[in-house]
Amino acid sequence: MDIPQTMRAMVLEAPGEPLVPRERPVPEPDKGQVLVRVEACGVCRTDLHIVDGELNKPRLPLIPGHEIVGRVVAAGDGAGRYEAGSRVGVPWLGHVDGTCRYCRRGQENLCDHPLFTGYTMDGGYAEYVVAFEDFCFPVPESYAAPQAAPLLCAGLIGYRAYRMTGEHVERLGLYGFGAAAHILAQVAVHEGKQIYAFTKPGDERSQEFARRLGAQWAGASGQAPPETLDAAIIFAPVGPLVVDALRVTDKGGSVVCGGIHMSDIPQFPYRLLWEERTVRSVANLTRRDGEELLAMAPRVPVATEVHTFPLAKANEALDQLRSGAFDGAAVLTMG
Ligand SMILES: [Zn+2]
Ligand SMILES: [Zn+2]
Repeated sequence: MDIPQTMRAMVLEAPGEPLVPRERPVPEPDKGQVLVRVEACGVCRTDLHIVDGELNKPRLPLIPGHEIVGRVVAAGDGAGRYEAGSRVGVPWLGHVDGTCRYCRRGQENLCDHPLFTGYTMDGGYAEYVVAFEDFCFPVPESYAAPQAAPLLCAGLIGYRAYRMTGEHVERLGLYGFGAAAHILAQVAVHEGKQIYAFTKPGDERSQEFARRLGAQWAGASGQAPPETLDAAIIFAPVGPLVVDALRVTDKGGSVVCGGIHMSDIPQFPYRLLWEERTVRSVANLTRRDGEELLAMAPRVPVATEVHTFPLAKANEALDQLRSGAFDGAAVLTMG
């Protein structure tokens, strides 16, 4: 396969400023890495937090993007898991040390020395990316690349948050009906759960979108659903939603925060937490989460709703995500 010397990339040079189109050398795969020709890369809310400077430890300059679908075109020393042409997904978790106490007890998502794609390693807002092959996933060929991309983070973090809601969940609330919720709702409905979708007040379009994907009820975030919830997942980066959700969550229920960044959670009375309610966050992903979700997605089947933008329009995609201009997920295509 012909690999050019240089590639197009959208680069974060300073937080708070738009990405800049740059011509970059095509990276060389290091030991244990593969070189992937990117076909599509999802635009995640975490990218917005990085670009806006709310997550403050990116490498700079940085190529963002951690919902990557592409084909392996070359391999570094010791990398032999994928043949050339294999289709892979590259997620947020780019590498772990494998030796810290968290890794040793199966919590590699909490590793002390992690690398994150599109944050501490260059990501997929580019024509090529290198990734550690042990952290890539095979992606089902039944999905077109843009449709598969949102599974790699929105899908994964939603799925991990869903698993953290615990047992005995029949009525599940989803706060913020964007890329993650629209994937998770399909999985949860498939497993017989009842979905209650909460959006910004007045956002009829997203409420209708939620009902179309099988939500039993959809309304505004401050509203009380017709029945109390067994669990709620908060996808919107808005702290007061934690209190809203606790207010309508039943005894023994859990409220799970799915985002990497959230505004402050306001003070609330203890009685909202009493009766064994829990509030927790989920961080990153483990490889097991990825393998499980990507195996399950075609069986549901999860159909993602994507809005594609050419690579050069990455800033527009980020702006539209920020303003909530579309339902589903934004995806960059390399074309
Ligand atoms: Zn570790
Ligand atoms: Zn993400």
